[in-house]
Amino acid sequence: MTVSADVDRWLFGEAWTGSQIPDHVTALCDTIGPRWSGTEAEWRTIDYIRSVLEGYGLDRVDVEEFDFVSWSWSKADAWVLVDQADRFDLDILPFIRCPSFQVDAQVVDVGFGTQREIDQAGPLSGRIALMAMSHEPFSEPIPPAYRLRQVAAAGATAAIVIDPKTGGRREYHSAHDSRDPDFDHPPLPCVSATREDAARLRRTPAARIHLDVETTSPRVKSANVHGVLEGEHWPEEDLVLGGHHDTVFGTPGGNDNSSGTIAVIETARVLAHLRKALGKRPGRSIHFVTYAAEEQGFHGAGQFVSRHYAAGHRPRLALNLDELSAGPMKGIVLGFDHLRLFVQEQLDSMGDGLACHVMAQLDNSSDHFPYLYRGIDAAHLWRWRFRSRHADADFHHEPADTADKLNVRELKEYVAQLSRLMLRLSQVEPDAWPQLGVSAEEAAARVVAERGSVVRVF
Ligand SMILES: [Zn+2]
Repeated sequence: MTVSADVDRWLFGEAWTGSQIPDHVTALCDTIGPRWSGTEAEWRTIDYIRSVLEGYGLDRVDVEEFDFVSWSWSKADAWVLVDQADRFDLDILPFIRCPSFQVDAQVVDVGFGTQREIDQAGPLSGRIALMAMSHEPFSEPIPPAYRLRQVAAAGATAAIVIDPKTGGRREYHSAHDSRDPDFDHPPLPCVSATREDAARLRRTPAARIHLDVETTSPRVKSANVHGVLEGEHWPEEDLVLGGHHDTVFGTPGGNDNSSGTIAVIETARVLAHLRKALGKRPGRSIHFVTYAAEEQGFHGAGQFVSRHYAAGHRPRLALNLDELSAGPMKGIVLGFDHLRLFVQEQLDSMGDGLACHVMAQLDNSSDHFPYLYRGIDAAHLWRWRFRSRHADADFHHEPADTADKLNVRELKEYVAQLSRLMLRLSQVEPDAWPQLGVSAEEAAARVVAERGSVVRVF
């Protein structure tokens, strides 16, 4: 089965002329704003997405609740007393999942936190390590979480991590490896500081810093929103198009991830409308999902996979949309290589020069990871240029990731291309689909082997 040029034209036209993207941008970024999972603002987001999807006439829309241990902070103070008369305050953020702590200790500069630098820094016991988040340029890159683990092992009581951004910008960070469930998260109490504050700290010899951080870890309720457009020929076979609807604290999440959330709901609108207008249905079922709690460890995607795909049933492919403010669509990036030629053929049939790539590692940076971890075929979009971040995609996890970071025209094009791609993938005869993922054991072994490696997604 193929998708005719008429249908392609209709999809492109509808994605542009019927677009509701500006309304969704206003609702998510301006009316609701920051939506940390488990908060009342996230529940307003969930209600909004549910009612929008219901309005499109999908076959089913469910709000799938779950609970999990969340985290929040109420105090994050840091100051240095140079002498009795001279005090300066630092602008800090606690790392996600940082415990409450209070410490007054000397600061030791450990550079990038490589073992060599830690050894040279002198005794760390009972002291606060000052560590650059970026990679030491001359050696094999080590993820910051692993460098912080080395700093903790050397006896530091806390770490101040220098955000690589400039101009007083700093964002929320976490220090763990989702490929390792036993990784201490974070390995020691951590806060991030701006590059400018850290430079001043470095200019203050033998500075003693006072850190005072209060956090809590409440159990909260959250939910994924799940809409289904049933397939005409193979309704029991699934394709998944998803993206997370939550943000970190204090940001309206224009790029991260109103862009992906809106592309999911707009693609649902366009394909549901295609059925109404032309009677054209997908061959297999398309599941549209907005995930909760991506920013807290992919809880929503993990819940979705356990709920629907734990008992042997697997989707053909799950596509994850995260941070699409990166210029026009360039292609998709698979986790496992066996679908590469097959997906490239689908992209070639669209005639827009889109490319299919395969990540060298199972990418644990977003909601496709819970799928990959179980050996399920999953992909994300080739949305960054990989060698450096797109200027707008450089905004995430910070207050300036506002609505203007989301380019409406580009997002319309994403929706058109995703509608065309999902429809094509839905119509491939089951026999022509190469293979259903890899075994869960094989995937899990790969994940273990890849622990500690740096995944190049930025
Ligand atoms: Zn994101």
